[in-house]
Amino acid sequence: MDKNALKLREIPVEGYEQVVEVIYEPADLHGIIAIHSTQLGPGCGGIRAFPYSSFDQALTDVLRLAKGMTYKSSIAQTGTGGAKSVLILKKSQSKTKEMLIAFAETINLFKGRYYGGEDMGITLADLAIMHEVTPYVVGLSLAGSSGDPSNFTAHGGARGIQAVCKKLWGTPSVRGKKIAVQGLGSVGMKLIQHLFWEGAELIVADVNALLVEDAVNHWGAKGVAPEEILKVKCDIFAPCAIGGILNAKTIPQLNCYAVAGVANNQLLTPEDGDRLLQRGILYAPDFVINAGGLINISSEIKHQKYRPEYARERVDHLYDLLLSIFEQSESKHRSTNDIAVEIAEHYLHESRALK
Ligand code: NAD
Repeated sequence: MDKNALKLREIPVEGYEQVVEVIYEPADLHGIIAIHSTQLGPGCGGIRAFPYSSFDQALTDVLRLAKGMTYKSSIAQTGTGGAKSVLILKKSQSKTKEMLIAFAETINLFKGRYYGGEDMGITLADLAIMHEVTPYVVGLSLAGSSGDPSNFTAHGGARGIQAVCKKLWGTPSVRGKKIAVQGLGSVGMKLIQHLFWEGAELIVADVNALLVEDAVNHWGAKGVAPEEILKVKCDIFAPCAIGGILNAKTIPQLNCYAVAGVANNQLLTPEDGDRLLQRGILYAPDFVINAGGLINISSEIKHQKYRPEYARERVDHLYDLLLSIFEQSESKHRSTNDIAVEIAEHYLHESRALK
């Protein structure tokens, strides 16, 4: 890599420790690394590769995601901080080895303040390429590494759905419950398998028709069009695709008792948490129910030897954490999202006070 050709532009953003635009023209690389907080440990968050329609759209996404990672790390007590990065792809541009290597070299400049991993548009094969030049990518398929985080995210998602069932119907069993899953990617497809074996009735949608076909053929699901899934009559709606889908327009269209899925940033604004409360729809805060992957990855960063059993135990604990959030929300008449944010901020303040 020609270090002279690397252009780094600091973007001051209030409340964030460091936000940097990365440009490396020889590899056609354009990206952003956002470190929201290293208060609780090194900033940890996936690398997302996406054809954003503008730089501002990418910046908004990475900032929201990085802050979400701080809350997720805090509430799940992973000993990591919050960060995220994005690769801004041009329309129909593909990732190249040169681009990934240049981005990995840039991550090295943060000297361990940022650890990247898999996210939308980034595969384990991409991470393996990056790992050739940086130790600061985690969740690899190598021996001793924590591997694909989506297995743990899906398990956490299933435990979260059980917590919803316990709260609403007095038993964690999903047997006979109608669960509508939006998105059948790395996590969604694994989540429906957990739910299938537990006896749930599945309704699914994905913009990729082949994935829907797979779920219908192999997991007894009923497929619906992507624009229908949000309105479908069900017990639990599980968003496992894109963010911002719970908003002033969509919340009145929901036809479910609860929303519990793994997608990041499901609420378009914090007020949408109140909208769900007003509609009497129980919401499992996204950054709690989808913390499984981070718990798994952080156990690779924080411990000398990665032990999946340890990570599993901690992911299981999300069930109790969510139940406690649901109880507090009920007794305080406040949205579950507000309660979860308050708990996360409490840990952050506590750690600041100790330092
Ligand atoms: P993925 O890219 O593998 O899957 C996303 C799926 O959603 C794809 O199959 C895609 O076709 C589908 N999709 C996109 N837009 C859609 C739409 N409008 N309607 C229906 N389907 C649509 O991603 P993933 O790793 O499975 O992650 C899913 C979500 O969970 C993302 O929001 C991600 O940030 C979040 N998440 C993932 C992990 C993880 O361990 N992978 C951890 C925490 C949170």
